Amino acid sequence: MKIILTFDIERDIPNNLNTFFGVKVGLLKILKLLDNFNVNATFFCTGHVAKYLPDYIRLVERKGHEIACHGLSHERLNHLGFKKCQAIISQNKKIIENTCQNSEIFGFRSPYLNPPKYLFKVLNNLGFKYDSSIKSQKNVKFYQKYNDGIQEYPPSNYNISLRICINYSFLLKLMFKKEVIILCFHPIEWINMKEVLRNQMSGFNLFLNLSYRPDRWLNTGDKFNTKIHNFIKDSLSKKAEFLTLKQLYFQDSR
Ligand SMILES: [Zn+2]
Repeated sequence: MKIILTFDIERDIPNNLNTFFGVKVGLLKILKLLDNFNVNATFFCTGHVAKYLPDYIRLVERKGHEIACHGLSHERLNHLGFKKCQAIISQNKKIIENTCQNSEIFGFRSPYLNPPKYLFKVLNNLGFKYDSSIKSQKNVKFYQKYNDGIQEYPPSNYNISLRICINYSFLLKLMFKKEVIILCFHPIEWINMKEVLRNQMSGFNLFLNLSYRPDRWLNTGDKFNTKIHNFIKDSLSKKAEFLTLKQLYFQDSR
């Protein structure tokens, strides 16, 4: 059983809340949690965060985690043409390469997990080795039609799934039937997002976020940290192996 923990490092709620509480507070809690168990993870970073908060990205790298790309400013790449999409991902990669000290960048995840059909061609042109954006294994072939030089690692969970379960044992049972699971997280899940929304928003916008977008705040904060702490602890006791996607890629290409 191989488990890959992945984190998307971006503004708190792209296009809605342009603050960085997740990066400045949540990310440090995540690093502490991973340190605690001595496990490494993959961090998909926007160029925007790397440019304005480079010390956080360097800290992640120094801890031995993998840094990968996640767009320049969390654009909806499927709404852009090929050239523009390639220019954005290229700039994203350059900023990350300039921010990091020794990391060679291998991976990409499309913002909103909504890749354009020609994504693999763009990634191949820019020297990436793998992608982790396609929600279903069934759809991977569609993307490979445009270029098959990229390895796909589809995420196993969506935005809120781990936060909804009161305990994760059911999910764990499902997941342990698979050989490899790739879990997606965001640093905002490690901070109390209900409080952040109340402090940062007001009126109709606050109402909308609290009523219609529970995925943005439900069960975030210390409760979630404890849940993932227990998940890692249980998984390690069951002899699961924690890897970065880059390490998985090397194992697969041997
Ligand atoms: Zn994202």
